[in-house]
Amino acid sequence: MSQDPALRALIDRIIPPDDLPGGWDAGAGDFLRNQLDAETLSNGLARLDAAATEQYGAEFAELDPTRQDSLITDALRTNPSEFLDRVIALAIQGFYGDPANGGNRDSVSWRMIGYRDRQPDTVLPAPRPGPATITADRIADRYDAVVVGAGAGGGVVACVLAEAGWRVLVVERGSWLPVEQPSDHLRNQRSLFGYETPAGPPLNGNPRVLDRSDGPPITIGPGDGRWNNNAMTLGGGTRVYGAQAWRFAPEDFRMASIYGVPEGSSLADWPITYADLEPYYDRAEWEFGVSGSVGGNAAEGPRRRGYPMPPVRQSAATAMLAGGAKELGWTTGPVPLLINSQTHDGRAGCAGCGTCVGFVCPVDAKNGSHNTVIPRALATGNCDLLLESQVTRVSTDSDGNVIGVRLAGGREITARHVVLTAGAIETARLLLASRSSREPDGLGNTHDQVGRNLQGHVYSGAIGTFEQVVQECLGPGPTISTNDFRHHNGDLVGGGMLANDFVPTPLNTYGLLNGLGLLSRWGAESKRGMRELYSRSAVIMGPIQEVSNPQSRVRIADDVTDAAGMPVARLSGGILAEDRRAARFLADRAVEWLTASGARTVTMLRQPSDRANDGPSGGQHQAGTCRMGTEAGHSVTDPYGRVWGHDNLHLADASLHVTNGGVNPVLTVLANAYRVGDAIVRDG
Ligand SMILES: Cc1cc2nc3c(=O)[nH]c(=O)nc-3n(C[C@H](O)[C@H](O)[C@H](O)COP(=O)(O)OP(=O)(O)OC[C@H]3O[C@@H](n4cnc5c(N)ncnc54)[C@H](O)[C@@H]3O)c2cc1C
Repeated sequence: MSQDPALRALIDRIIPPDDLPGGWDAGAGDFLRNQLDAETLSNGLARLDAAATEQYGAEFAELDPTRQDSLITDALRTNPSEFLDRVIALAIQGFYGDPANGGNRDSVSWRMIGYRDRQPDTVLPAPRPGPATITADRIADRYDAVVVGAGAGGGVVACVLAEAGWRVLVVERGSWLPVEQPSDHLRNQRSLFGYETPAGPPLNGNPRVLDRSDGPPITIGPGDGRWNNNAMTLGGGTRVYGAQAWRFAPEDFRMASIYGVPEGSSLADWPITYADLEPYYDRAEWEFGVSGSVGGNAAEGPRRRGYPMPPVRQSAATAMLAGGAKELGWTTGPVPLLINSQTHDGRAGCAGCGTCVGFVCPVDAKNGSHNTVIPRALATGNCDLLLESQVTRVSTDSDGNVIGVRLAGGREITARHVVLTAGAIETARLLLASRSSREPDGLGNTHDQVGRNLQGHVYSGAIGTFEQVVQECLGPGPTISTNDFRHHNGDLVGGGMLANDFVPTPLNTYGLLNGLGLLSRWGAESKRGMRELYSRSAVIMGPIQEVSNPQSRVRIADDVTDAAGMPVARLSGGILAEDRRAARFLADRAVEWLTASGARTVTMLRQPSDRANDGPSGGQHQAGTCRMGTEAGHSVTDPYGRVWGHDNLHLADASLHVTNGGVNPVLTVLANAYRVGDAIVRDG
């Protein structure tokens, strides 16, 4: 307590009081004390006092603000201080984070910048029970199929098989997140502050190994962006996703035929066409529930009908951006979303919250596998759902035939069919970790294809600042897009889609603006900047179609195991030069769009060339590690997701994607899983 004056003074220089309270009165000091251990705090403050005394003859708290600022500046510049770096980061987290974390008493910073996380009239639903689950001791000895992972692909396949009368066990390593989960701005799938997130996985016990080009491999945890997390919970990524529901374009299935195969890449055509997947896109849109409207998408292929719901509400930015695009002669349309724009399927319409992507929807208006296909599968009475249980191996008999799976702890489950839907990285890891004397390099890996071609989506775009308010905090946020640059962009391979962004959390805007040099890290300028810029900034961005790289891959690290004793994923490789070109091209278009829309300043988002050694692209849009194909030498499965050489081992997640489109991938994961599920039932 004796050092409170120094802490108070320091926090009030990081977030100074003006006509509104500073960091200290907002509670950032309490927040910081909860995060930093007492010894680190008292030692750091003692060093600050010592420096103040040496330079000015008085302790830090007794100096005038100018001298305090110059001490902080000097300490940060001349003597890089881990302590001060950490204190600044934590004070900012406390002040701009959600009030429940402490540090933002009475939502002072949110009121200052005009952010709100809920619309005033939002009615939160009454708590509902989670799905009926089974405990390990009640699992049957044998199933028709065991589905590993209850995410996008897993939920669909479980539903298709259970509705066809199959006895199905779904094993999901994550847990059920209740709808009334608080919207924690520090712990969510959209923000990376190194804390454990409810959508998982736990920080401890889940390492991965990352190969680097300029040093030895390193071991990292899920709090590190290079770990490439999606989400590990019931519903997988669909539990917390932004829910953009794009169809791939017809060209996306024929990338090698259209563009050739760039040197060093493994670009290939899918073994199916857009027309093959179209009925399943339609089924995914109608069975999950998508809000959208037809038209305004220059890249879209033929479709049999429109969407089950009209688009979500527009915002002030929509009209402004529509004007800019019109001036440029571009086509625009709404962003299709797996979010109810009106009451649908017994659940509410979108309430317009500021916490959509990365969070559980507080009114349950977001449609994922957890509230659509998984409840349907359970309702058949044919499906058992086992949560918080990890599959560590696909089991084979002495002849190499797949006979079931092994759970962490050693329990064996037998099944006629095994369907892996663990996400692109974990599905590859499971196959590789399931090696046997017959297949010593991993199940289905005779041709060294498992784990290769890992790809996600490099995001590219720009941020514009405007004279007027353009961020009304009316969620979800993405309302206008252009698909004019998905293909046929001169000598580029593919391209991408551009749209406006989800409502950002204040902390994410702080991080973005500060990272781009548009906002001071701390001090009066920083506070003023946030006050002015949060509501006057708009981001235009989108995913580029990555060019497949065989060296971007998942292997397993034999010397590092997770908490269940399973060898962990080892990631290596990175994106190709082609991807950097495409990213730059899309960023240039975003700059043009914001400029034409009246932005007073426009700044490009960080380009991927600045991020050498970050490892492969994967993360939330991870795909491609177990491609479908027409011949075993160049793919892992046949065109229906059946692993070559194993008639009863199927994949039905994003790992099957041959290429990953220039749009968000989940609708394609869902559609393809319906297709794979139908084929499994058909072939018995
Ligand atoms: C914050 C966020 C925003 C996103 N926004 C969008 C968007 O707007 N549009 C879009 O198209 N896509 C979006 N995505 C991506 C989308 O969610 C994924 O593309 C999709 O979920 C991938 O489906 P999947 O079936 O391959 O894997 P997942 O949905 O990740 O499911 C895999 C499941 O397997 C489980 N699992 C893994 N290993 C094991 C094991 N050994 N044993 C048991 N269970 C296991 C995992 O816990 C997980 O639940 C977003 C994702 C996130 C996290």
